Amino acid sequence: MSAAVINLVYLLAAALFILGLKGLSHPRTAVRGNQLGATGMLIAIVATLLDRQILSFEWILLGLIVGSLIGAVMALRVAMTAMPQMVAILNGFGGAASALVAGANLVESALPNAQLPAPLLQLTLAAAASGIIGAVTFWGSLVAFAKLQGIISENPLQVSFLHYINGMLLLAAVGLGVLLALNPTALGYYWALLVVASLVGLLLVIPIGGADMPVVIALLNSYSGLAAASTGFVLNNNALIITGSLVGASGIILTAIMCRAMNRSLRNVLFGVWVPSEAGPKAEDVYAGKVKAASPDDVAMLLEGARYVVIVPGYGMAVAQAQHAVRDLMQILEKQGTLVEFAIHPVAGRMPGHMNVLLAEADVPYDRLKEMDDINPRFEQVDVAIVIGANDVVNPLARTDPNSPIAGMPILDVDKARSVVVIKRSLSPGFAGIPNPLFAADNTLMLFADAREGVQQIIAALKSK
Ligand code: NDP
Repeated sequence: MSAAVINLVYLLAAALFILGLKGLSHPRTAVRGNQLGATGMLIAIVATLLDRQILSFEWILLGLIVGSLIGAVMALRVAMTAMPQMVAILNGFGGAASALVAGANLVESALPNAQLPAPLLQLTLAAAASGIIGAVTFWGSLVAFAKLQGIISENPLQVSFLHYINGMLLLAAVGLGVLLALNPTALGYYWALLVVASLVGLLLVIPIGGADMPVVIALLNSYSGLAAASTGFVLNNNALIITGSLVGASGIILTAIMCRAMNRSLRNVLFGVWVPSEAGPKAEDVYAGKVKAASPDDVAMLLEGARYVVIVPGYGMAVAQAQHAVRDLMQILEKQGTLVEFAIHPVAGRMPGHMNVLLAEADVPYDRLKEMDDINPRFEQVDVAIVIGANDVVNPLARTDPNSPIAGMPILDVDKARSVVVIKRSLSPGFAGIPNPLFAADNTLMLFADAREGVQQIIAALKSK
């Protein structure tokens, strides 16, 4: 294939990636966006393999089939709640692949009469960058996976000196990269750089834990893109440079959005430690004698008279897989002439867009989903707010307790609704590990149940009226 043709094909793939990303920005167009991106990737991979002519057609096909099968099985089998660790491990593989491809090119370029894909200085500098970022991404992602999968403790560690050690190791890795650029055939520098950068990846993520993990995964996703872009410079491959840059940029944008939604700075996520505050109110003091338990019949009675109902889903809805029952409840209420909307907090659940994905799966129309800034001013007009397995994202302590771990996090102002019904199994805390005064508020009724069973019982009670 001529260079002009291959570059035109890459341009087409890049256009598909950008259209795909645009499609992913809205739930209505997300599936098509995903398909466009995947098509772009297929075109880029097949064109590259044909262009290099290092593999026969049969091998390409075999690779496609095996890869597609592994991907399909993983996608079908992964539980919604395990998505963050799956993303983590895939990021890690991306980083490792970039570092290995860069290393293979260095080895090749050191051979006598080697044909270099790029000028030697570009090749070695880009390989060093790819090696450092790729190794950090791989080991950091492995630690993130192990933490989220419960293989190692997810608790944050308070070891501030680690960051100094890490800083020095990173400087050492960069130094090794410079030595490699000065002595391109001395491959030992590259392997040493990989070892040092691997330590950086391990030490970077080990102290981080709790609610910061998904932010770290978004950041590692961005790193995997940067590693791929660097490898693109090693190979002089435009498709890889563009794809890597898109992943790097979108990952960093997602990181910034998540930090903002949790009211945390990236510096604080990476170098600070988030531990539940000892100074905050104790659960006994918040709840003692003030919590009112309700039956499904009580809730059904309340809902019968409601004209405007807002449903607030959270992590518990995902765990209970209650989204289909919630959709049925919406339909029954709409039949009786009630306006039903969903209030979506940006960090409800355990991954960005978690609630949107579940509700879309249950065919809840997108126009019923309201973002926090749109719905918050309307809560005073809401007759009944039904909180389903959500906790931290509706905790008024975020507004009132400056010592709380969620202090300053924007929350859904559910407490301002006329009545609030909370469906959860107990008074257990959410991710932040703190009590929630909403559960003890005068206008709140607690329906202690699994989210799916609780909603189904309310539906049954509504139907029997
Ligand atoms: P929370 O983690 O605050 O609370 C979830 C609640 O769900 C628990 O209190 C639990 O109570 C309840 N629950 C669990 N299982 C069930 C069930 N089967 N049926 C009914 N209820 C159940 O969830 P939120 O969605 O409100 O908040 C998300 C939290 O996660 C925030 O702190 C956020 O910062 C953090 N986070 C979010 C990320 C994201 O990207 N979305 C990423 C990482 C962290 P009980 O046991 O009593 O039933």
